[in-house]
Amino acid sequence: ETVLEFQHVSKRYRNGVLGLDDINFSVPKGQFVAVVGLSGAGKSTLLNSVNRMIEITNGSVLVNGQDVTKVRGRKLRHMRRQIGMIFQGFNLVERATVQKNVLAGRTGYYPTWKTLLGWYSTQDQALAVEQLKKVNLVQKLYQRADQLSGGQKQRVAIARTLMQDPTLVLADEPVASLDPKTSTGVMRDLYNLKKYEKITVLVNLHSVELALKYADRIIGLRDGRIVYDRAADQSNQAE
Ligand code: ADP
Ligand code: ADP
Repeated sequence: ETVLEFQHVSKRYRNGVLGLDDINFSVPKGQFVAVVGLSGAGKSTLLNSVNRMIEITNGSVLVNGQDVTKVRGRKLRHMRRQIGMIFQGFNLVERATVQKNVLAGRTGYYPTWKTLLGWYSTQDQALAVEQLKKVNLVQKLYQRADQLSGGQKQRVAIARTLMQDPTLVLADEPVASLDPKTSTGVMRDLYNLKKYEKITVLVNLHSVELALKYADRIIGLRDGRIVYDRAADQSNQAE
């Protein structure tokens, strides 16, 4: 069962830069893929092509068999709901509580006026608690996001993304702003999405060391091209 597939994908920016150059790969359900490469290699372009934050110039991107370049309107929104996003900068509402940030995952990335006013079902509240348990932050439920450490914020972002019950989670340099120890905690939470939830994970990483430790597979990019694509050495795997 293939969750994500790139077929001859190229992206040329308006200034002429070729961000992606004939990218081909497919990812089976439940695989944890790390995309590594130097700054400017095309990692963000690749990731953002999946949910159409970036429109590709050529080729097809398939998510659960559906060509994302061809869907519009309601179908595009439905497809985006299957894709969880984790950002380098967390994208939390800093002045809202952890609970409200997580509940916002039901509708998108930001709380709606309903969630801000506290209008959410007891069922959704229970679900938010469930997700926070998975990232060991249930004790922070009523704290404001701006009182958390960077690692805790990223784990709230992971809990938020779980609220949309994604089949695929994309993380763009999720630990780039964190220290090594905190990075390990966040990587482990991402690893657990694959392990316990059978979610397919694609994560852009600067650190080959973290990729080797947590990923099943490593795709190396350089100048918008895949320069290697191989299984990570299982002997290094986190368990
Ligand atoms: P698209 O082709 O996807 O519409 P654009 O070429 O319009 O993208 O660029 C979007 C924005 O990113 C523009 O404001 C552009 O100036 C800016 N930009 C240009 N070069 C770079 C770069 N190397 N890295 C990041 N952003 C850039
Ligand atoms: P990475 O995420 O690996 O650092 P990017 O995908 O951001 O790489 O960038 C790939 C290439 O595309 C780089 O040469 C970058 O400068 C260029 N680029 C990225 N965004 C834009 C943009 N909006 N407009 C023009 N060029 C861009």
